[in-house]
Amino acid sequence: MASQELIKKLEETIENFPDFPIPGIQFKDISPIFLDPKLYEEVIADLVAFSKGKVDAVCGIESRGYLFGIAIAVALEVPFILVRKKGKLPPPVVSEKYDLEYGSAEIETREGQIKKGQRILIHDDLLATGGTTEATAKLVEKQGATVAQFSFLTALKGLNGDEKLKKFNAEIYHILE
Ligand code: AMP
Repeated sequence: MASQELIKKLEETIENFPDFPIPGIQFKDISPIFLDPKLYEEVIADLVAFSKGKVDAVCGIESRGYLFGIAIAVALEVPFILVRKKGKLPPPVVSEKYDLEYGSAEIETREGQIKKGQRILIHDDLLATGGTTEATAKLVEKQGATVAQFSFLTALKGLNGDEKLKKFNAEIYHILE
């Protein structure tokens, strides 16, 4: 969907850092996008085009998922819901636990912010293993809503995050493969 021009610009702008924060991890830093407001606008326009008319609300994953997710929701004129790490939101909350490589984590939304029957876009900046996104999708479904779409700026090759999300039967889009 994205133009070759946008793909090229994004590839040049997102910076790769081998062995950060630990050996073996290639960290992708999206922060240079915010130094270029025109590029930021183009990224949002592309993600908005993907979701236009297809969702009733956007769930953004802490924390970089907020940087684009809110702009997408505002452009689509639909609500934005924060998916936060455990203990950051005032009760009552709805939670989902998931496994990490070592140990486990938990994410939460405020109870009542996701409405039954809503078609939800789950957005994050980057798809890695898909663990956090999968837990977010379960959190959406346990509140009676449907995951209609997933969107990301980019995905890490070789981790097969897409595979983990297939069971939700939702559209999956990342601007960069
Ligand atoms: P995952 O649950 O493995 O898909 O990854 C969850 C989160 O970790 C995403 O929200 C990403 O923003 C972040 N993340 C994982 N791997 C990387 C990476 N190599 N570079 C930058 N962010 C990453």
